[in-house]
Amino acid sequence: MTTATRIDGKAMAAGIIETVKAATAALAPHTVPGLAVVIVGEDPASQVYVGSKARMAEDCGFHSVKHVLPAETAEADLLALIADLNADAAIHGILVQLPLPPQIDANRVIQTIDADKDVDGFHLLNVGRLGTGAIDAAFVPCTPAGSMLMLRKILGDDLSGKTAVVVGRSNIVGKPMAQLLLAANATVTIAHSRTKDLAAVCRGADILVAAVGRPEMIRGDWVKEGAVVIDVGINRVDAPERGTGKTRLVGDVAYEEAAARAAAITPVPGGVGPMTIAMLMANTVTAAYRAAGKAAPR
Ligand code: NDP
Repeated sequence: MTTATRIDGKAMAAGIIETVKAATAALAPHTVPGLAVVIVGEDPASQVYVGSKARMAEDCGFHSVKHVLPAETAEADLLALIADLNADAAIHGILVQLPLPPQIDANRVIQTIDADKDVDGFHLLNVGRLGTGAIDAAFVPCTPAGSMLMLRKILGDDLSGKTAVVVGRSNIVGKPMAQLLLAANATVTIAHSRTKDLAAVCRGADILVAAVGRPEMIRGDWVKEGAVVIDVGINRVDAPERGTGKTRLVGDVAYEEAAARAAAITPVPGGVGPMTIAMLMANTVTAAYRAAGKAAPR
């Protein structure tokens, strides 16, 4: 039986997009936020992500530019494009869709992006700002930033006394999520594939964030009664019940089981996913405000 509050990421994201649109209108006509998305190769999932980011940017009233480069693009050519975008005053945010093909060093590409246009929050300057608590000056990676807003909606801004467990230690989700929780005064554990007795670690969490990439790995009896669960995972699994060859999306958490114990939980789809794209738009508008020498809207 489901008893938990379902944290509706779609509705929250729609609210953020309205704020972004208003902030964009307030900058006109002198500044139009500009977002450049760059994709190398034809990975179908990446193409879907890039397409929806570019469409959302247009919907927000941004100047939206999409660069689609062939899979065999040389690193030097991609770096040259980034240099051009860095120098382009009409572009405030640059996003390079990952993963990149093997001939390109993704880290070198990310570090070439002007930190002031790094709306993904992956540049070392922004990573360092987040890590040292200078969050207002940083661009925070979109998925953890969106996850944090969802948590705040349930628990408020101050997580003092709360125990948080983040399962997953990637640079784009797990680690920045842990930094945000720490900055909000939670007591944070980061768990990963080498963690012993993960179920017991999770059972201690008032706040449980799953960013693993394993379908429904986190079971209901891993969830503390009354916990808030943020499921970042997006996994496509076979769904023969929907017909031959059909698939569906599930998270890293077994939703129904977890919802029977949690106080609140994000669904998949419709949870963290829409928030991620909304936060990208919010970061881009922030970049445009900073470039215009104005205080960014909050
Ligand atoms: P990564 O593969 O980079 O990281 C996965 C992490 O999970 C690693 O730290 C790994 O540990 C840990 N892990 C793997 N298996 C286990 C296990 N059996 N027990 C405990 N920990 C384990 O993934 P990402 O962080 O990029 O993404 C995580 C998930 O979030 C994916 O499903 C992805 O699709 C989704 N995602 C969703 C987004 C959204 O918008 N909602 C955006 C980005 C990602 P170790 O380090 O030891 O290998």
